[in-house]
Amino acid sequence: MPHNLLAQIENNIQKLTSQGLKSLVVFDLDSTLFDVSPRLERILMDFAQKEEFILKFPDQIAFFKNIKVLPTDWGIKAALGRAGLQEPFLDFQAEVTAFWQEHFFSNHYLQYDRPIDGAIEFVQSVAQAGADVAYLTGRDVARMGLGSEQILRKWGLPLNEKAQLNLKPHKSMDDAEFKTDWFVDVQNKSYQKIYFFENEPVILHRMAEKCPAVECIFLDSTHSGKAHPPENLPRLINFLKNRHPNHLKK
Ligand SMILES: [Mg+2]
Repeated sequence: MPHNLLAQIENNIQKLTSQGLKSLVVFDLDSTLFDVSPRLERILMDFAQKEEFILKFPDQIAFFKNIKVLPTDWGIKAALGRAGLQEPFLDFQAEVTAFWQEHFFSNHYLQYDRPIDGAIEFVQSVAQAGADVAYLTGRDVARMGLGSEQILRKWGLPLNEKAQLNLKPHKSMDDAEFKTDWFVDVQNKSYQKIYFFENEPVILHRMAEKCPAVECIFLDSTHSGKAHPPENLPRLINFLKNRHPNHLKK
């Protein structure tokens, strides 16, 4: 087993390409290619700047100077708790949660996301090696389509007929259903090999049931906590190669 999983994948793609065979590498966006913690933090900081909230929740807003969202946070609860806001302030929590949801799932704040280390270079290199690329995200077209496209271009990620962005047609769709249905469809397109990088265990478990031929790689960044991380998949914390070992196999 080669030491470096990412190098192994690149080599395999090169080999398939040289044999005239098609390969596909699929990437989730949030918490797979991008660290969303700067987006979360910016939304909370903007909440604390709004006059209506300063007037309504002066005691809670005072704690916002302590807020730091970590890459391992999922949602805002942990960051609020660390800042000293762990009490159940019901009105406040309802307002801050609504503000977070409205803005997290919107085009505007995507500009604050940061690529996971090595992510841009890895996507570029698999495209260079001849693989088709797909970005497969639970973001929906209406709220986040335009911003997602702009951000991919801003970071130099390939976006063309061989590298396509796939968003949910409607926000009400279930992420795991949407993604596995997409794979069921794409499996008919004569790919010799399909890889999928994803951080959400719920989706990876569903993939194992519905699309076992797809080789899944678990990004151990952060996730919903709705399912246990898959134990039988390769696990990455970033896309860096040739440095410290960045994955743990089984
Ligand atoms: Mg994700």
